[in-house]
Amino acid sequence: MSTFKELGLNLNIVKALTDLGYENPTEIQLQAIPQVLTSKQDLKAFAQTGTGKTAAFSLPILEQIDTNSNDTQAIILSPTRELALQIANNITEFSKYTNGVKTAAVYGGTNIDEQIRKLKRGVQIVVGTPGRTVDLINRKQLKLSNIKWLVLDEADEMLNMGFKDELDQILAVTPKEKQTLLFSATFPQEVESIAKNYMYKPVELSAGQKNKGSDQVSHQYYVVSERNRYAALKRIADVNPDIYSIIFCRTRRETQEIADKLIKDGYNADALHGDLSQAQRDSVMEKFRKKHLQILVATDVAARGLDVNDLTHVINHKLPDQIESYTHRSGRTGRAGKEGISIAIVTAREKNKLHPIERIIGKKFVNTPIPTGKEICQNQLFKLIDKVHDIEINETEIKDFLPSIYEKLEGLNREELIKRFVSIEFNTFLTYYENAPDLNDSEHMKGIDSRGKRRNDENMTRFFINIGRKDKLNPSRLIGLINDQKIGQNIEIGQIEILDTFSFFELDKNYESNTISAFEQNDVTFDGRKVNVEITTKQRTGRGGRSNGNRKRTRDNKPKNDFGGFGRKRSDNKSAFGGGNKSPKRRKR
Ligand code: AMP
Repeated sequence: MSTFKELGLNLNIVKALTDLGYENPTEIQLQAIPQVLTSKQDLKAFAQTGTGKTAAFSLPILEQIDTNSNDTQAIILSPTRELALQIANNITEFSKYTNGVKTAAVYGGTNIDEQIRKLKRGVQIVVGTPGRTVDLINRKQLKLSNIKWLVLDEADEMLNMGFKDELDQILAVTPKEKQTLLFSATFPQEVESIAKNYMYKPVELSAGQKNKGSDQVSHQYYVVSERNRYAALKRIADVNPDIYSIIFCRTRRETQEIADKLIKDGYNADALHGDLSQAQRDSVMEKFRKKHLQILVATDVAARGLDVNDLTHVINHKLPDQIESYTHRSGRTGRAGKEGISIAIVTAREKNKLHPIERIIGKKFVNTPIPTGKEICQNQLFKLIDKVHDIEINETEIKDFLPSIYEKLEGLNREELIKRFVSIEFNTFLTYYENAPDLNDSEHMKGIDSRGKRRNDENMTRFFINIGRKDKLNPSRLIGLINDQKIGQNIEIGQIEILDTFSFFELDKNYESNTISAFEQNDVTFDGRKVNVEITTKQRTGRGGRSNGNRKRTRDNKPKNDFGGFGRKRSDNKSAFGGGNKSPKRRKR
């Protein structure tokens, strides 16, 4: 295998890489570095996050940058602020021993003046998010007319996030004579058309097969009824005492809800999503990076900037709407040569979403039974035994207490002693999971008739919508409006109730968060009025007298005697374990 030096990088760069612990180039670096150093041809690279792609495009640019000129020579576009900062930080580290290299990250959500001041001082490499880059170009503070390199990093994600117009605007002000380097983990049609329109005969490189996931990742799925989704999530965490995981959710609301529940149930978890302030997001990411948090519940976008290599699990609380996002999610584990597990929690109905993903990742999902209470107890017990085995004993401090301890425990033999010590921590799990039900979804299958239709309204969620008769809404227009949101195929619509200024409708509850996010994201209007859809707890009225009353609250408030929740607030919990609390609480690591 070639070294970084043999790839053509100068000694100052190689020294910086050695400081960072980069011993050998990764596959994408082996391919891209010599290519960009020796050719001006455009480059299209298939590379997942975690493959070392940042260095793959940054190092050859750094090698060729003209430090005598203050012109902006390279623009690197990335989808999020976090990623832009990460790339700029990496470049600063790579150029630690190279004099005169100036790099700046420009991104939204923060004061533009400071960024303008930095640009005015002359910056050769600018890393920017598309929106802020356009803003700076329009203000004539960022000049791209002399650039030699344009990098589109995570191109698929930029397009997913709706930055097509910004990319068009930026590309329009760059010179014809430049080298464009496009990196993407997936190549849907939109990315291909960017490549077609803006690149000239690009060389194609691939670190792994197109669109394929990492070989180090195994993919599992658990089938549950919607009711047990959260309980299954907790069992996955409980059966893996050393879990270090991102749980992906589709919406900010779902993310916060799941994080809140986990925190309440004593897990070492927190939420990461776009409704948090930048300072809150930074703080959560820092805690997670330092492993002060074991579980991060995140939206796809918010998790993009997080650079962690040793996640044990990626959990899809719900599968993403865009199947390409699954590759991004699962690519967060199995990095840097380590093995990882990507788990999808699905209902029987959602199972068919796995096949298209399998085609993309080139691997089969393994149907995995939800851990039983016994398995969880066993794993927790072994973890405890390992801890006892490995604990360091402070001989000097404990010495003075030992005689009276021996005296007190006199009469207990070795076996009894072991059992008692272990039980101190373990009883909580044993009690909690005693008679724990099987969460695997056999019930669900029984609840589906031969045509795959739901038999009763227990499976429906009731939504409030802020338009009604006065807006000329009628059932068929409402059904049309729901269908226009492309929430999913053949979703069952239940009762519709049109009132004067607002209405209610019911939909398959598996599509609860899909529905909310679709209406939110599509920015729906009806005859000029902004449409707002919310889950309601209001009871059904009228026809048939069936009451699905307070459905949402009933679900949420259901006594957690089905082991669906640890069920006690932190404040009830006098000590992390034991203390007579029947709910197992997880210690912070
Ligand atoms: P990236 O795909 O650029 O996000 O890189 C993923 C992770 O791999 C980052 O933490 C990098 O610091 C690390 N990395 C990149 N290249 C190498 C290398 N050649 N040797 C060791 N670690 C690397």
